[in-house]
Amino acid sequence: MPYFGALEAGGTKMVCAVVSGQGEVMEQTVLPTRCPEATVPELLAFFRGKPLAAMGIGCFGPVGLDRRTPQYGSILATPKTAWRGFPIAACFREALGVPVGFDTDVNAAALGEWAWGGAQGLDTAAYLTVGTGVGLGIVVGGRPYHGMLHPEGGHLPIARRADDPLARGICPFHPNCLEGLASGPSIEARWGRPARELAGQGAVWELEAFYLAQALCAYIMVLSPERIILGGGVMRQAQLFPLIRAEVRRQLGGYISGGGLAELEQYIVPASLGDSQGVLGAAQLAADAYRENGGRV
Ligand code: ADP
Ligand code: ZN
Repeated sequence: MPYFGALEAGGTKMVCAVVSGQGEVMEQTVLPTRCPEATVPELLAFFRGKPLAAMGIGCFGPVGLDRRTPQYGSILATPKTAWRGFPIAACFREALGVPVGFDTDVNAAALGEWAWGGAQGLDTAAYLTVGTGVGLGIVVGGRPYHGMLHPEGGHLPIARRADDPLARGICPFHPNCLEGLASGPSIEARWGRPARELAGQGAVWELEAFYLAQALCAYIMVLSPERIILGGGVMRQAQLFPLIRAEVRRQLGGYISGGGLAELEQYIVPASLGDSQGVLGAAQLAADAYRENGGRV
């Protein structure tokens, strides 16, 4: 049975794991994300010497996913300037000598949920993380969806509510995008306290649900995913789920009501794999790379 190396490369932390072909995390460690010169040797030290059939990386973005371009496998114009242009996939392939599967962190998480979690058996699923940033991963037919670059559903423009105490979303690029109005840091900027300390404040979560529902309605209208899975730190506020479902129903205005929308409790669901969807998805990217190279899982 093959073992896969899995790296969930995040802006603040790197989750490294060895995962079995059955999706069992055998060993895991978490390292802080510093600069490539400092962090990459630490990552390689974890993976080196382990009997890995392939490696998978789910990486913070934007990243190059078009295999026909030299940017494939590299981190692109990230605000984390030390990582800009870093060819992370090639670096692991050369250092470890195994095939490397590569995608965005959120596409990896979506794939993890598809392979082992709440989107098993579905053809299409969307995974939205609402944390420090907001990111959308999409799986179609068991494959992460890329398109031209990759979806940037976290930066979807949404309508700011007139009574929002935050005059402008906190995204430096967009005055009114989902990440700028609904991420954990935007909640803190709006209400003056970290999101986790605002659990009892109804107005906080009602406004949050209003914004998240706008994005979910757009994803439903454009992608028509069979399920939407919500993860990330902010979604630990479980009271958000009924608020979001009710608001999605209201905003859809009865225009679409069939399919999964008839049972919103099963359609808009929390992430099901604890915090492991990222590494399990990265392992799935590794399994796909292994198969593409003639291996059998
Ligand atoms: P990251 O996005 O950095 O990978 P997380 O998904 O954990 O990590 O998101 C961190 C963000 O989530 C922080 O902005 C924090 O305010 C928020 N957060 C973390 N835990 C909670 C909680 N229990 N309730 C509400 N917000 C939370
Ligand atoms: Zn934005």
